[in-house]
Amino acid sequence: MARASLKLGEMSIEGASRAGDETWFRIHPPGLAFDTGRGARELAGAHDIFLSHGHLDHALGLPYVLSQRSLHHEQHTRVFCPAPIAEPLAELVSAAERLEGGAFRYELLPISAGSRVAVGKDLEVEPFATDHVVPSLGYHLVRRRRRLAPAFAGLTAAELAAGRERGIDPSEVFEEIWLTYCGDTGPAVFDLEPRLFASRVLLIECTFLGDEQRGRGDRYKHLHLEDLAERAADFQNDAIVLHHLSRRHSVADLRAAVERLLPGLAARVHFLVEAENPREEGATP
Ligand SMILES: [Zn+2]
Ligand SMILES: [Zn+2]
Repeated sequence: MARASLKLGEMSIEGASRAGDETWFRIHPPGLAFDTGRGARELAGAHDIFLSHGHLDHALGLPYVLSQRSLHHEQHTRVFCPAPIAEPLAELVSAAERLEGGAFRYELLPISAGSRVAVGKDLEVEPFATDHVVPSLGYHLVRRRRRLAPAFAGLTAAELAAGRERGIDPSEVFEEIWLTYCGDTGPAVFDLEPRLFASRVLLIECTFLGDEQRGRGDRYKHLHLEDLAERAADFQNDAIVLHHLSRRHSVADLRAAVERLLPGLAARVHFLVEAENPREEGATP
């Protein structure tokens, strides 16, 4: 599959995603992984892996990535997953360890919506509930930053400097959702987690397009482009990365449909799958 990369401000995103094929992303900073696809070598540098759900196009690669990290790089890995899938995942990894004849260095950490995990300086991951046919989570990457506190907003630079000399700190800490990864989800996610509309970068699936596929999203717990179009006015994100496109559609089809159905959003929409391999555009896999 084509690996693509995107640079969005200070953040870089590397990944590959097609429905039923594989989906994984590596996010820098802090270098963490969202899902593992069927086993991408690019994830061997990821100390933290967050799995959205257990479908094999997202999770089968976990033993491979752990093997690469443990046996070849001797590195420890933290794997976070929805609590109900921890046991079968542990069994899958355990079978892989027996096949490879060595123990992997990892810990499996079940998590649930609302908890927080520190993943780097001023960075935390917070899981949230999504709407899929098996236990699933989406993840926010939350960033802590400093800004001028509103009480000092009217002061000149000289006044602020004078204040600082007297030991007054005019800044305050605030949090923002820097990136949101929804994994696989049906349209109920918009009610379950409305904060996704305000994240700076939104990685959201768009599996289906066109009249023929209408209604499939709700049935199979995926999103149809119509689901996004209905809520077009709600997306406050700086960038929206669409992924998990069905193999029955080409990226060119998706791009044309976005321009037609989401004219107000099209300038902020990115198509990750085509970024590094434009020759794939227009091809119907
Ligand atoms: Zn999937
Ligand atoms: Zn799935």
